[in-house]
Amino acid sequence: MTVTTNTTIQDVLRKTRAKRPMADIALLKKAYEFAEAAHEGQKRKTGENYMCHCLATAAQLADWGMDDETIMAGLLHDTVEDTDVTIETITKEFGPTVAQLVEGVSKLTKVKYRGIDRYVESLRRMCLAMAKDARVIIIKCADRIHNLRTLDALPPEKQKRIAMESIEIYAAIANRLGMGEIRGQLEDLSFPYILPEEYVWLTKKIEKPYEAKKAYLKNIIAKVKRILKENDIKYVSVHGRGKHLYSLYKKLLQHNRDLSKIYDLIALRIIVKDVADCYTALGLVHEYWTPLKGRIKDYIAQQKPNGYQSLHTTVFCDQGEIVEFQIRTQKMHIENEFGVAAHWQFKANNKKKRGKKKELMPWMKQIEKIQKEAVNEKQFLESMKGDVFKNRIFVFTPQGDVIELPEGATAVDFAYQIHTDLGNHCSGAKVNDKIQNIKTVLKSGDVVEIFSDKKRKGPNPDWLDFVVTNTARSQIKKMTQKPTLTADQ
Ligand code: MN
Repeated sequence: MTVTTNTTIQDVLRKTRAKRPMADIALLKKAYEFAEAAHEGQKRKTGENYMCHCLATAAQLADWGMDDETIMAGLLHDTVEDTDVTIETITKEFGPTVAQLVEGVSKLTKVKYRGIDRYVESLRRMCLAMAKDARVIIIKCADRIHNLRTLDALPPEKQKRIAMESIEIYAAIANRLGMGEIRGQLEDLSFPYILPEEYVWLTKKIEKPYEAKKAYLKNIIAKVKRILKENDIKYVSVHGRGKHLYSLYKKLLQHNRDLSKIYDLIALRIIVKDVADCYTALGLVHEYWTPLKGRIKDYIAQQKPNGYQSLHTTVFCDQGEIVEFQIRTQKMHIENEFGVAAHWQFKANNKKKRGKKKELMPWMKQIEKIQKEAVNEKQFLESMKGDVFKNRIFVFTPQGDVIELPEGATAVDFAYQIHTDLGNHCSGAKVNDKIQNIKTVLKSGDVVEIFSDKKRKGPNPDWLDFVVTNTARSQIKKMTQKPTLTADQ
């Protein structure tokens, strides 16, 4: 694992310009100087200056072609959480959008993986609900990738928790949002911390087959290029793509660890200009090599639930070697790798061009779209429905556990949600470190602590005027009802 990452602001600016020549360099520099001053004197566990982490995060975002606001928020992402800087100051200096992105990332920082299965789903949902702007999740992924790269500096127990959290929450969300490349990076960086022995086993096992396949494909790639040229298909690129380690590992487990059953250890990718060329290229491949039965997949006509588009085919190639081909357009390619993030790439690049405005798919629409197209993962997707989001909030205990409540829920509802006794003896509340009235309406991301008074006889019937959960309502009723002479319950 690499530990040192000496990214400079020059690297960030260079990467930004490479993807987006029209980027606002002065603004990015301003965000850098602001963050640098705020983190002055802070060190990371690796011993590096804290700013190294913010720069690495921003550089990753620049690499992904993200817009100025996202890169600025990447530079500033830890200022509110870890320094005296307030959201108000960020709003004043950099505008409301950057401030909202920074605030969103700070909220997600509180999301912790607790290793309890039933929480995982609610954490995922919370992430999506709290990140009203998908760019928050993209920044969080960039932040995570750098944290994983420097994970060696932390104690083993923490390493494992952070790696689990990255796979169970962030990689899973990246996958849902069609960000295949980002998911792959998160998973591969986490893999050695979660399953160290399996990781070593796998890397050893594939070392030789991988090199052999690479050498073999070199000739095939040259041949494919020649075939495309002869048939007047202008390709953007023909290259081999090694399967991400963790997804290879999962696939191997489904095949009794038999590597010979994995045909896409390295797949051959053909990137062309338009959809028609995709089908022509597929026809040409089949003209030269016989396809395996049942292995031709048209994800262009029928895209995967997360938006993935490509043609796949597996053929008996030269010398009887089995090779998987993946054929797609350049646009599909970028969208397959970056999913939701790709929309900002296209948007950022088109911004300065007059006329043709690229319609940005709204965040919720994207989720709805994923939802509609999904058949297999019904359960997860049901839980992603917009109305569930709209009507639920997610708040934290001081220990970082997540409590899910309906909108409008108060501190009393929260207390009852944790435990009936806590509700009955609830005497006060602290919300985000401030003492608040127990009828305070909570919002997503609040950290709530309840004070209880054991001497208290029971709940106050007046609470019925403001509680919204059935649990609280029925318990308060039960406890405050006058005893009756009849014995009915
Ligand atoms: Mn960070």
